[in-house]
Amino acid sequence: MLLIGLLVLAGGVTGTVLSRSGDGGAKTAQREGGVDAANGARASKGDATTSSTGTKNRNVAAASTTPTTDPRNPDAWPLSGAKARSKRVPILMYHLIAPAPAGTAYPGLWVPPTELEAQVEALDSAGFTGVTLGEVWEAWHGDGRLPSRPVVLSFDDGDISQVLGGAPVLRAAGWPGVLNLATNHLGKGGIPMWGAKRLIKQGWDVDSHTVTHPDVTALAPAALEQELTASKAAIKARLGVTAKFFCYPAGRNDPASRAAVEAAGYLAATTTEPGLAARSDDPFALPRLRVDPGMSGSTVVALARGTQAQTAGTGE
Ligand SMILES: [Zn+2]
Repeated sequence: MLLIGLLVLAGGVTGTVLSRSGDGGAKTAQREGGVDAANGARASKGDATTSSTGTKNRNVAAASTTPTTDPRNPDAWPLSGAKARSKRVPILMYHLIAPAPAGTAYPGLWVPPTELEAQVEALDSAGFTGVTLGEVWEAWHGDGRLPSRPVVLSFDDGDISQVLGGAPVLRAAGWPGVLNLATNHLGKGGIPMWGAKRLIKQGWDVDSHTVTHPDVTALAPAALEQELTASKAAIKARLGVTAKFFCYPAGRNDPASRAAVEAAGYLAATTTEPGLAARSDDPFALPRLRVDPGMSGSTVVALARGTQAQTAGTGE
């Protein structure tokens, strides 16, 4: 189930039409053939800010676009100390944020922006606040604070739809996301550099999802180490940020790969095992909650509250 990697390795997805909902009306573009031109146009009109600095400044980013008050104020979050350390946190798992193109082999990986928007609104109404995994980790293991109902929204692989369809929804809520990046997806056919930088500027964390999206349990030790260290190095060199966490491709992990992730310097890793994440979990096997196409806001809220169990399925 290496959809994105396979598409990239296969040399493109010409003919796949990706419907995008960005700053307003829906746009369609011919993926691959049209992506460079689209990137150029978009970079010149809408992304001037990303060239100035790679520093994360959530308040500036939020204030410059939306009139709403940024609800995130980590210094005022109510949970600290033992209450923060014992807080169980839902980590939601998304992939592509666009309507599934007709005939796609993996329709389950596509969530339209309108559905993401309804889910974020429902979570917000239910009292949830979006946080990064780094913020959760600081509250679990350091002196960081958490909102009363934290939720992490993670986006796997690295795709332009996460920039055009996902980021505007999170930005409107004043929430950051987490990009789990397979670093071969950074650039043409995946997530363009300007897009990844835009996410960082909007407060997102970028974590490693390997270089080539292999099943890490099938790799020889040297190849596994290469995937773990080269992806971390590429994120640092190309995006200027440190990937503190790792995400297993397709969720596949075993004792050897978990030990290798730890040895490579990551603090923790996420899987596709369902459940709420807790400080008491094996940090190298944190569970997540898969968001499927068609899920209502109330279903996602129930998953995030832990009142509804995740149905069986797979993730990437
Ligand atoms: Zn993946």
